[in-house]
Amino acid sequence: MGGERRERGSSDAPHAPHAPHAPDTPDPRAEADAPPRFACDAMLGGLARWLRALGYEAAFEHGIEDAALVARAADTGAILLSSDRPLFERRAVRAGEVRALFVPRHAPVHEQATFVLRAFELDVRPPRCMRCGGALVEAPREDVRDEVPPRSLRAYALFYRCARCRGVFWHGTHWARIEAERLEIARQLAAR
Ligand SMILES: [Zn+2]
Repeated sequence: MGGERRERGSSDAPHAPHAPHAPDTPDPRAEADAPPRFACDAMLGGLARWLRALGYEAAFEHGIEDAALVARAADTGAILLSSDRPLFERRAVRAGEVRALFVPRHAPVHEQATFVLRAFELDVRPPRCMRCGGALVEAPREDVRDEVPPRSLRAYALFYRCARCRGVFWHGTHWARIEAERLEIARQLAAR
């Protein structure tokens, strides 16, 4: 989830390029019932953020080459999402070793996200960290006191910390817009 956030020692830059994907994420194939995870191509950073807001792990690395992306999807068992036709001609994709879905590049990002969830018959899940895809854990106000502006600390009761990047989030006005979009996407999926 995005929501408001404040990171220690850095300015808030929600659309900044992501840091390289954390290599310590667990292999999803170890958990048969785990929801699918996604690997987005270098043009689909916005989609990755939205898939995380909808509760899915979605890797995105700015400028990643097609070959590296396909290899990553093969290694992690992630479903490859791409708007790049030549990528679908790669051997591992053609052979079905990597599951892949073509995503229309110029569609609005929430439409892309709805398209992906519909294609795999997935539901909207509890949000994950929009920045890295980590799980969000409720954090007591006392634990986030130094990381949240005083006004927000007073105004909101629930705070969350990302278990992976340690970012702190709360349900401010930005989150309200995301939550409205989550509900709209859930409504569209229910109508399928
Ligand atoms: Zn995070």
